[in-house]
Amino acid sequence: MSDKEIKLVEALVTANRILAHEGIIDVFGHIAVRSEHNPKEFLLSCSRSPQAVTARDIMRYRLDGSAVTKTKERHYAERIIHAAILEARPEVHSVCHTHSDGILPFASSGETIRPVIHAGTLFWEGIGWFENYDQGGNLLVSSATEGKELAASLGSRRAALLKNHGCVVVGKSVPQAVLAAICLDKNARVQLETMRLGKTLFIDSEQGRRGAAVFESPLALERAWGYWLARLPKGWRTGAGLSN
Ligand SMILES: [Zn+2]
Repeated sequence: MSDKEIKLVEALVTANRILAHEGIIDVFGHIAVRSEHNPKEFLLSCSRSPQAVTARDIMRYRLDGSAVTKTKERHYAERIIHAAILEARPEVHSVCHTHSDGILPFASSGETIRPVIHAGTLFWEGIGWFENYDQGGNLLVSSATEGKELAASLGSRRAALLKNHGCVVVGKSVPQAVLAAICLDKNARVQLETMRLGKTLFIDSEQGRRGAAVFESPLALERAWGYWLARLPKGWRTGAGLSN
């Protein structure tokens, strides 16, 4: 494995720990990253709760969801989410699927999440909506058809809601996808609370576009990543199988 790929594995394990610690991905959420070695492959943990993911758990998959890594471990049923989006969006390098508490009221009502705070401007282009689960399906996005439908619902945006289920967010890097997952949840929480007051001041798309450029600048991303790392419990690297 090249040095770049080893760094990607480390970033992915770290992202799992951060997203779990921040309460964004629970038992069932996951995050993937496109391989540096082969853009037609991606890295994702085997079926494991994100809080418990270690470097050993990171597997390699093709863009049809099939596993490259030979293993006796089980795979996430919804790995097609990552495969289909990475196939449809060459500029996207990381995909995160969550069922975070903040976004679920919107996924369960069809109400749109719109930017109400600076963190929410990442979604100035709007949020996609997926509801075309397979006939006789089980609310998981696990077939090739559902993957394609979801990628189409996402379009060129940063995020899409999955009806009665959760969301997907994407980024050009692992930190960008982590930032998007955390910001979507926060904006959704604030929006819901604000709407209870009876008057909501939404951010228009032009102001949102400019706001997003600042919020996702390298300086801001570096500061955010440092903040999340500082909040992880002592000794987490050893537990995650990463060198100190
Ligand atoms: Zn799910």
